[in-house]
Amino acid sequence: MVPDNDFDAVIIGAGFNGLYQLYRLRQEGYRVRLIDAEAGPGGVWQSNCYPGARVDSHVPNYEFSIEAVWRDWVWTERFPARDELIRYFEHIDKVLDLSRDIDFNTRLEAASFDSASNKWSLSANGGSATYSSQYMILATGFGSKPYIPDLPGIELFGNDCHHTARWPKQGMPLDNKRVGVIGTGASGVQVIQHAAQVADQVVVFQRTPVTAIPMSQQSLSKAAQDTAKADYPEMFRRRNAPPGSFADIERLNISALDVSELERNRVYDQAWDKGGFHFWVGTFKDVLTNEEANRTAYVYWRDRVRAIIDDPKSAELLAPTEPPYPFGTKRPSLEQGYYQCFNQQNVDLIDIRADPITLISPNKVATANASFDLDILVLATGFDANTGGLVAIDIQGRDGLSLADAWSGGVSTQLGMAIAGFPNMLILYGPQSSASFCNGPVCAEIQGEWLVDLLAHMTTNAYATVESTPTADQAWTAHLDDVANSSLFGQTDSWYMGANIPHKPRQLLNYPNSDAYLDRLQRCAANGYDGFVFT
Ligand code: FAD
Repeated sequence: MVPDNDFDAVIIGAGFNGLYQLYRLRQEGYRVRLIDAEAGPGGVWQSNCYPGARVDSHVPNYEFSIEAVWRDWVWTERFPARDELIRYFEHIDKVLDLSRDIDFNTRLEAASFDSASNKWSLSANGGSATYSSQYMILATGFGSKPYIPDLPGIELFGNDCHHTARWPKQGMPLDNKRVGVIGTGASGVQVIQHAAQVADQVVVFQRTPVTAIPMSQQSLSKAAQDTAKADYPEMFRRRNAPPGSFADIERLNISALDVSELERNRVYDQAWDKGGFHFWVGTFKDVLTNEEANRTAYVYWRDRVRAIIDDPKSAELLAPTEPPYPFGTKRPSLEQGYYQCFNQQNVDLIDIRADPITLISPNKVATANASFDLDILVLATGFDANTGGLVAIDIQGRDGLSLADAWSGGVSTQLGMAIAGFPNMLILYGPQSSASFCNGPVCAEIQGEWLVDLLAHMTTNAYATVESTPTADQAWTAHLDDVANSSLFGQTDSWYMGANIPHKPRQLLNYPNSDAYLDRLQRCAANGYDGFVFT
């Protein structure tokens, strides 16, 4: 008899990637268990419950293409807020009947591979939950480890200081409070916009300006969605095939430098007016690869933004005359009135490069030149993205090789999905995949189907293990290095490059070309899983 805790596959993470995998592998007849540290499904949306949290990818791009899920689901907004996303995940759970195979409130702490049995042993919650399985599928997300910089006295501020991804689940309203926000990335922009409407005072501590672009939020009616659903199957087919990721955003196959200024601005105007990520990924082919082309996008963005801001000093801080980094090489956030906030009396902008935070004390943040009494301090300081959540688990592969040691000099994987020395361990939405440049649910379906096919290949051939080779890992890593050097990404200190974390090896951690990525996956499978060894 098979013990209750022995499975064909254990999946870690109940976000888009883990849930899709559970649904598909179960459909294929595997014995599967999913575990997640959170209390319910939704992954990153469980923990990122800060005020103003919402997704930047518009629906129906940001949802599963499974008809049983979309048929009866109705969104209220084009860019849904966090609570609506959680309701959507509950709907997925109900329609696909997933929870019966999920252990929530279960954090994986350690996993080791046993070469004698060719199985993984997993230990969670201090050893009170254990599992063994042929495959370990890590769908732990790119942002499961929040990053808090070493700010002097941060531990002294008091109870009302929280990272955006560790916001109190019961909520903590900002209404009529004095709120400080450290960080102006995607989460910072969302908190600041919200706080500016409801708080008495908002103090924004900015290190690097974000290049936020208009969201163009819209309310969505049921009638309009019912009509649109007739085209969903074709739309999802387009979305999941090259160029992929968005069914309705495509980069033009022309250079920004091969058209007149008038024509260029017409393209930029159109992308700007459409909102969402159009201005980032839906204009000219060389905006992210050619410095001169990139500058045209930056200058357009700068001038549009500066036209909104009344105070010239704030305008220079928020949208500098010279680009602080090539446009689009840090993830642009989507904004709804972000720049207008800085025209309000209740919002202060502090440039912490010029005027650094010197001391945090109870309900107070002091910089070199000023001091602010605050009720709430929001740490919108991002994540140890891509790798942090993975190396936080004590993973030991063949012969006790630890993942943390294997990656101590830098990440190396094959296609972001497998690592030499770690048999039968597959990663979804992981480092060196197209994660962050490919919508969460789209990537979940593309990588998910590839993984389902790989496991079918294993079963058909009665293989016990699949493992990447060091040569294949090195080749993929070298390819990403080439991409960093031949595009503008390598020039920017971003979390894509691991540069937001002190001492993290600097390398491109996400593959920015989702259609080339899909092509690589398909070619690898078509060539009999080139670069993998099977036993
Ligand atoms: P996640 O949704 O991150 O889920 C991972 C799960 O793994 C979590 O529930 C976590 O609890 C669990 N986990 C991690 N470690 C362990 C462990 N050791 N033991 C047990 N469980 C563990 N993507 C987009 O495409 N578009 C967007 O606009 C967008 N906006 C975002 C906004 C925010 C604020 C954040 C943080 C992310 C955003 N993302 C966006 C990226 C987002 O990660 C993906 O869209 C998607 O959620 C990825 O799903 P996932 O299943 O890979 O991981």
